[in-house]
Amino acid sequence: MQPRDLSDHVAYEAGRGIEEVARELGRDPSEFVKLASNENPHGPSPAAAVAIRETASSVSSYPKAAHADLTGAIADRWDVDDEQVWLANGGDGAIDYLSRAVLEPEDTILVPSPGFAYYGMSARFHHGDVREYALEREDDFAQTADDVLSAYDGDRIVYLTSPHNPSGSTIALEEVEAIAAETDADTLVVVDEAYGEFADRESALSLTEGRNGFDARDDITVLRTFSKAYGLAGVRLGYAVVPEAWADAYARVNTPFAASELACRAGLAAIDDDEHVKRTVETTVESRAYMREHIETHVWESEGNFALVDVGDASTVAEEMQDRGVIVRDCSSFGLPGCIRITCGTEDETERAVETLNEILADLELGGNGDGTGDGKRDGDATADTEVADT
Ligand SMILES: *Cc1c(COP(=O)(O)O)cnc(C)c1O
Repeated sequence: MQPRDLSDHVAYEAGRGIEEVARELGRDPSEFVKLASNENPHGPSPAAAVAIRETASSVSSYPKAAHADLTGAIADRWDVDDEQVWLANGGDGAIDYLSRAVLEPEDTILVPSPGFAYYGMSARFHHGDVREYALEREDDFAQTADDVLSAYDGDRIVYLTSPHNPSGSTIALEEVEAIAAETDADTLVVVDEAYGEFADRESALSLTEGRNGFDARDDITVLRTFSKAYGLAGVRLGYAVVPEAWADAYARVNTPFAASELACRAGLAAIDDDEHVKRTVETTVESRAYMREHIETHVWESEGNFALVDVGDASTVAEEMQDRGVIVRDCSSFGLPGCIRITCGTEDETERAVETLNEILADLELGGNGDGTGDGKRDGDATADTEVADT
């Protein structure tokens, strides 16, 4: 017995974990920091951690009430109807629900390149095909309606990522509206706001709901997740907010109980913990600014909880950083072999990442732009650290 022909399918390349790297290198996990998967450096909301512990004794029941309660809480937060909230097993699960609800075999979707791999993976699982629009490095990955529309060819779903992974660029709501208006009536525009909390911008829900001066549209859907700002990547919880007109499709496409009792209870606690999100966003803003100011090569302006850095040779630099204890994301798999992506860490983690990177850039003679403000001292410290790490 063999599975069907999967030669068009690719495996998802996740950021590498500390345990995995430490084991491979035969080192102690405590030597490493991981800034590779855009996780929350402050961990989960403490209230969510308590909720998970308290829920342990009731996981023998299917998550019916918890699912309804969380759906209601999210609907309240966005001021939409409960049925518009499609809870799922992570944002990725919500992408699958949209594929199930919308795609016929051989329909195409249009995705950003570089971009998030799961859009295409999900479409292929549903026997769809994938087309791409380019976000140009020379334009700092700017996102405009013109670029998307010039690539558009009747695709059934158009994915926009704002803030965009891995560049951190965003798209203005006027541009999203123009894309929705210019594409066919049965083209769905999905605005993936997995990093929405980190950007000082209105959600594209303004367009779905007809708020903030926009007319309500039935062809735009917003994607959100608890994995990033809420620090719940491990419980797998995300959702789509879909237009009222076809929200009832959820009942026919969702996997029963895909958002677990633990996930729903954690989500309910986390959504009320504004303090944790606020602290997380503040740390992120500081870390982003620190990286842009102190890294001695080009760092793109980002509205996400990460920064894209031009290092010349991503695989060499990412490997070297890993050897020196800082795990970052080599963006070769995104089609950017010259770039790494560094997740915004705590103050200490960010400083360590910047110091380590600058030292490597100096070693590789790629970094030296000669401005040297205060870096001599940091380089000195970092070199000492490296010698320790290398032994
Ligand atoms: C992280 C991420 C998601 C969703 O991740 P989940 O952990 O499945 O919720 C969606 N889109 C982008 C661009 C992401 O980076």
